[in-house]
Parts: sequence; structure tokens; C-alpha cells
Amino acid sequence: MLSSAPTDTPDAPVIIIGAGMAGYSLARELRKLSPDLAITLISQDAADSYAKPTLSNAFAQNKAADSIANASAEQMAETLKLTVMNFYHVSQIDTANKTLTVHPVLASDKQQVLPYSRLVLATGANPRMLPNVSVDNARIFAVNHLDEYKKFQQKIQQCQATSDAPTRVAIIGAGLIGCEFANDLVSQTSQHAMAISVFDNADLPLSSQLPPQAGEALLTALTTAGVNFQLGVTIDSIDSSNPDTLTVTVKDRNGQLQAHEFDVILVAIGLVANTALAEQAGLAVAHLNAEQIAQVTHLPRTAQQGILVNQFLQTSVPDIYAIGDSANVMGSFMPYVMPLMNQARALAKTLSDQANDATAAPTAVSYPAMPVTIKTPSLPLVVLPVAAQYADSDINWQITPTEDGMVLAAFAHDNTDKLLGFVLTGKEAGKQRMTLSKQVDAWL
Ligand SMILES: Cc1cc2nc3c(=O)[nH]c(=O)nc-3n(C[C@H](O)[C@H](O)[C@H](O)COP(=O)(O)OP(=O)(O)OC[C@H]3O[C@@H](n4cnc5c(N)ncnc54)[C@H](O)[C@@H]3O)c2cc1C
Repeated sequence: MLSSAPTDTPDAPVIIIGAGMAGYSLARELRKLSPDLAITLISQDAADSYAKPTLSNAFAQNKAADSIANASAEQMAETLKLTVMNFYHVSQIDTANKTLTVHPVLASDKQQVLPYSRLVLATGANPRMLPNVSVDNARIFAVNHLDEYKKFQQKIQQCQATSDAPTRVAIIGAGLIGCEFANDLVSQTSQHAMAISVFDNADLPLSSQLPPQAGEALLTALTTAGVNFQLGVTIDSIDSSNPDTLTVTVKDRNGQLQAHEFDVILVAIGLVANTALAEQAGLAVAHLNAEQIAQVTHLPRTAQQGILVNQFLQTSVPDIYAIGDSANVMGSFMPYVMPLMNQARALAKTLSDQANDATAAPTAVSYPAMPVTIKTPSLPLVVLPVAAQYADSDINWQITPTEDGMVLAAFAHDNTDKLLGFVLTGKEAGKQRMTLSKQVDAWL
């Protein structure tokens, strides 16, 4: 924890780095509470506002990538009375003088130094990469941004326009993003079908989030919809030397190699929190030791990554906060919309209160138990993960079939009255989402 007292810069703006859902949610909440506060939002992208979850169900809805953004940077600046610096990269934070070094993305020699009163890092996450595979955004993609999605959609449309054969798409990773895209692409209602294959080294899709019974049900539903799953395999190589075909070679558990040919590859093997700027400035990031991890009991067990913040979203450096996919709140990295909305509300209150009175007490983020809806229409899924204090061996799954799926309720072995989490499969079970969520203890 750095303890040097930073320079006082009360007249400088609140600066938010990042124009994703976290950055804009905070700007919106803060503007509601502080109509006159100076807020600057800096982003290295176009800073269009869009709902990122739309990216994995746009094909089935025949939604053009260009229509996904709901407001431009200019419209956001006007509506929320912000200074928006789009296409600006923040390259450095000087925590002692409370300044940022920024430059236009295409002109790294044109640096400016900007003072901040409070700084919020909403720098998001980047797709995790496969070793030795470069995402070229021409035939090999990893989609975590509207710009990447635009190129992905364009490529598929181009394949469809130039050949009557189904476009062959390989999705590497059968996690949330991989399964959502698989379901979306296979359901596209165009005259050209797509041939979708999903590769994963686990034996079932969504293996880290679903108990096996639900994983089996998802596998059956997506396979019936036309997705070809290749499970229990590792990617041995991806050969892009042939301009017409990409060759994915996989190895099964017996060491047998098998080659498959594709037109397009989507890498969906997870996210890496974007902590580079924070680390360079000396902010603590989550590399918790075993003892610290053992203390994270009341939040779901997650990957250990992100800029470490406390319950007030404060980083280890005074006047700097982190939210959204770049943040690790008290030992938990939850890259979803509901957590970032709760973070934005709490932090807006803190920043607004302290703009009026620097000594005002900060507001703690509150986390009700937050279920995640997985957009796989072939088998609608809702998952409410169990808090980390319960080991897998403590959990007793009670399964109740419904008309079109099941309710999988997680109880502690020693207390069958206490609901710890759940998985709901199918539309009928999904109706119980709210009722069941209310029965689970709040996380924070
Ligand atoms: C396909 C897909 C589907 C999803 N579906 C769901 C869903 O159904 N439900 C759900 O809850 N969640 C879903 N998610 C997750 C959810 O969308 C994310 O948690 C959320 O959008 C993250 O927002 P963010 O603002 O934290 O990050 P980002 O959207 O990654 O924004 C980060 C911003 O920071 C900027 N930036 C980074 N570094 C710098 C720098 N140095 N200088 C300037 N700017 C910088 C970037 O340009 C960007 O504007 C989905 C995600 C994906 C990819």
C-alpha cells in the first residue's frame, strides 16, 4: 500500500479511463448526483456507448454490427455533460502529482499531462490468447469489443457472399462466450448455414460454471441445434499459411492428433484483466497468497486477477479507484454487468459526496447474490455461483425437473434449508430466478 500523500488538486476533474459499460455507467450515475461536477472520460477507442452482451446474440437477431452502438461519443458527451477524449491512450499515471500522461492513439509524440482530482480505472479486460496463435482480426478473432466484433461479422458475411458452402467456424473454448457465440452462429436465419465446431479440453461445456447434469443438458441442446463439439482435446497448432483454409490440429487424451479445416476461428478462452497501467503506477493487483484467498469466503471463487480494490472500490493508492472488468473487488473478479452496475452506483455516491465535502465517508459497494444469464436460447441458463466458503464437497445438489429443463439447487450438506446458489436450465426454471436469488445471502 503506497502511503505518500498526493498533491491536492480539488479543481481538477474526476477522470474516468474507459468508455465501456463500467466507465459510462459511472459517468451516468455520477451525473445524476452531481449536475455540475467536471468529469472527463478518456478512451483509446471511439467511445461509442454499446451494450457488450449484444455481441453474442446479434447474428440470430440479424443485427448489423454497425447498429449495435446506441450513442456516439459526441452524444454521450452532450447528454451527460462530459469531456470525452476518444482515441486517446493513457500511457502513465503520476500518483504523487495526480496527473495522467495521454496521447492521441495515432500520435504518440503528442503527449499531454492532465491533472485529476479523483481517477477511476475502468480499463476492462483483454481476451486471453492461445500461445503461438496470433489473432489477426482477418481470419482469427477474439471478440471482447465492438470493433473486433465488426471485423468478425464482416468476415463471416464475406465468406457467405463468396461461397454457397456453409462457412466453417471453429470456436476455441466452450465457456460462456464460446457457447453463446456457438448458439448464436448456428441459429442465424440466413440462406447460408454455418458449420460450427467448438473445441475444449474439458469434457463438458461451461465446465467451470455448471454441475455435470446441466453441462450434459447444454451439450445435448447445442448438439441438437447443430453445433459440433470436440471435447477433451487440446489445441496442438493452428496453421494459417494457406490463404484459403485454416487448419486446427487437436490432440486428444491419448495423444492422437486430428486436423480440421476452417474459414474462421474465434478464440474464446477467457479474459485477462487490463492492469498494465495500474501496475506501472504501482497499484496493487490481485496476486493473492493462499492465506488471503482463504479469507475471501463470502464472494464466489473466481480467477485471481484485476486491480485490487476494497469495498469502497479504492485501489491501494489514494484517490484512485477501479471498477468493471479491470477490478478485483475484495478478492473477487466478476466480469459481468450486474457487479459493475452496483460498483458504479456506490462509487458515484462516494465521488459526489466527497466533491462536496472531502471528509465525507465513502459508500461501500453492496452485492446482492447476482445470477448470470447465459444467452444460449437452445437451452436458456441462469447461474448463481456459490460463495467460496463452501467447497464443492460441501454442496448437495438437489435436482427438480421442470417441463423443459431443471432446477439445480445447491444446499449445504448440513443445512438443507439454506440455498447457496443454483443453476436453472430451460425457460420454465428460469422463471424462478428472482424468487430463488432472494433466498441466497447477499455477497457483500
Ligand atoms: C460477447 C460478450 C457477451 C457478454 N454477455 C454478458 C451477459 O450476457 N451478461 C453479463 O453480465 N455480462 C456479459 N458480458 C460481460 C460484460 O459485457 C462486461 O463485464 C462489461 O461489458 C465490461 O465493461 P468494462 O467497461 O469493464 O470493460 P470494457 O468494455 O473492456 O471497456 C474498457 C475500456 O477501457 C478503455 N481503455 C483500456 N485501457 C486504456 C488506456 N490505457 N487508455 C485509454 N483507454 C483505455 C478501452 O478502450 C475501453 O473503452 C459479455 C461479454 C462479452 C465479450
